[in-house]
Amino acid sequence: MNAKICFIGAGNMAKSLIGGLLASGYEAKNIIATDPSEEQRQALGSQFAIESFADNNEALMHADIVVLAVKPQILRNVCAEISSTVQAGSPLVLSIAAGIRTDDIDRWLGGNLPIVRTMPNTPALIQTGATGLFANARVNDEQKSQAEHIMRATGLTLWVDTEAKIDAVTALSGSGPAYYFLFMEAMENAAEKLGLDHKTAHLLTMQTALGAAKMVMESHQDCAQLRANVTSPNGTTQKAIEHFESKQLREIVEGAMTDAYQRAQELA
Ligand code: NAD
Repeated sequence: MNAKICFIGAGNMAKSLIGGLLASGYEAKNIIATDPSEEQRQALGSQFAIESFADNNEALMHADIVVLAVKPQILRNVCAEISSTVQAGSPLVLSIAAGIRTDDIDRWLGGNLPIVRTMPNTPALIQTGATGLFANARVNDEQKSQAEHIMRATGLTLWVDTEAKIDAVTALSGSGPAYYFLFMEAMENAAEKLGLDHKTAHLLTMQTALGAAKMVMESHQDCAQLRANVTSPNGTTQKAIEHFESKQLREIVEGAMTDAYQRAQELA
């Protein structure tokens, strides 16, 4: 793929995508980025040796793909500013802004554009992200694979066939890292109460989470089977699992994710 990609906004997420694209062999001459911050533009030059602009419209002139990577609160204004240049070039528009619908982006940009909306998550910053993608009806197959190629620079990518499912992705992988952080925090605290020092509790919690995730990814067994494999009758794990089940852990998780899903719908 040698399409010219223009990032509008060169903050944390854009830099993670740019770094991932370059590491995967994408040519620096085909990536440009804009940012009003002089400091960010200098970082782009020194870190990635890519061209950067303070003026969004100037940068967009020759772009085949535009990645909207500004904060959601300012996206509407940024779209208004670039709409005539975007209409003139009709590039593929890829948005990573949380909670902003493709119909709104399309309207703000003047209409009739191919738009892919994505929902990345924070681990994308360390190339271990999980991103859900949704394409509006104007996106063709080649553009879908271009969008996928870009987002794969930060980890796993999966398409959803309706935009409402992006809200479910938000409740799962978007907010999901925080669920694991909470669970790990609770495990650390409990281990300290059982007599371990903080550092030991922290290291064992992290390595256990990593090991469990790797086992799920690398084995051909599902989570329920892997759990059964390590739960001996009347053993320690069984005691702990029975406690979780008696406190309705599954219902708690379902309730939490439903709340997150509804909040995502309200915000969009
Ligand atoms: P960030 O604040 O690090 O980056 C935004 C950049 O936009 C900044 O460098 C800022 O100077 C620049 N900017 C401000 N006004 C601009 C303008 N008019 N034109 C061009 N650039 C402008 O934010 P981020 O964390 O990289 O988030 C970017 C987008 O990614 C957001 O819409 C957010 O919803 C989405 N997102 C981020 C994460 C995450 O983990 N960070 C996860 C999911 C989605």
